[in-house]
Amino acid sequence: MKCKRCGGKARVQLRHHNAAFCQPCFVFFFQRQVQRTIEHEHMFTLEDRILVAVSGGKDSLALWDVLATLGYQTTGLHLSLGIGDYSRDSAEKTKAFAEARGLALLTVDLEESALAIPVLARATRRPACATCGLSKRHHFDAVAAQNDFRVVATGHNLDDEAARLLGNVMRWQRGYLSKQKPVLEPNHPKFARKVRPLFRLTEYETAVYAFLRKIEYVVEECPNAEGASQLVYKDALNRIEAVMPGSKLGFVQEFLKSAQPLFEQEDLPPPETCSTCGMPSWGVTCSYCGLTARATATLSPQPTPSPDANPEGEETR
Ligand code: AMP
Ligand code: ZN
Repeated sequence: MKCKRCGGKARVQLRHHNAAFCQPCFVFFFQRQVQRTIEHEHMFTLEDRILVAVSGGKDSLALWDVLATLGYQTTGLHLSLGIGDYSRDSAEKTKAFAEARGLALLTVDLEESALAIPVLARATRRPACATCGLSKRHHFDAVAAQNDFRVVATGHNLDDEAARLLGNVMRWQRGYLSKQKPVLEPNHPKFARKVRPLFRLTEYETAVYAFLRKIEYVVEECPNAEGASQLVYKDALNRIEAVMPGSKLGFVQEFLKSAQPLFEQEDLPPPETCSTCGMPSWGVTCSYCGLTARATATLSPQPTPSPDANPEGEETR
């Protein structure tokens, strides 16, 4: 098979585009796809400062690599989630990537502030993945606001978007469908625009790109993801894609074009301000501060009776 761009021997076959590329041309193709998505969706320009959320996995590191190569002004943000060796490895890989390329990286260590995901999840009896999602969203917004970033980019790829869409459609989650877009405009001055420049590129394509660019990333999945419904949806979509290449891309693109606008919610009340952290909130405190307050209350030691207290509880004179 021949490379679609240069006519040389093709090494990467993309059935969903009915195309194949040699290695250098695939790298060019991948970077150009990201550039086109950024421009087509009006995500940001060369003048904007972008906060790139980097987990240490292939997608977010590939995204950071592309954005830096294309000349965008980027700063990485890594959250150490406190999930044992997985988090230690993720932080190391992210720091090594930034150092090797001379890129600026901000880090937030949740374990240091006693807000590690497993601790929060146990204390509040919420599923780890839900706790993790809430923590990430809060810290992305808070760090962007503190450092005056107007754009936050994440490495969600086509497989992530298609699986999320399938999950939202299975339960007809109107609220979530209204927010399923590659560009989410802020509804409060303290929020940044959220963008997903890899949403048209598959997990396979980002894996190949990371490999060809010699990016060292964390290979293992988060231990909490085992059994997560996202993986079931991804598996189902992969089976469909194997028989009908292009299904995932069509599913997401057609949704965005034809169905997503029908779910747009209008006249939502503007958010208030969280009395604890000062970020936008739909109650007196934001969901994250509510969660951490519940966890702290559960974890703080119960007061023990002092030695001279009356053990019988009788009235003393
Ligand atoms: P996930 O929610 O794990 O599927 O990750 C989706 C995207 O969120 C990644 O591509 C990253 O951009 C971002 N992300 C996930 N985990 C972290 C983390 N620990 N620190 C910073 N960004 C993250
Ligand atoms: Zn708050």
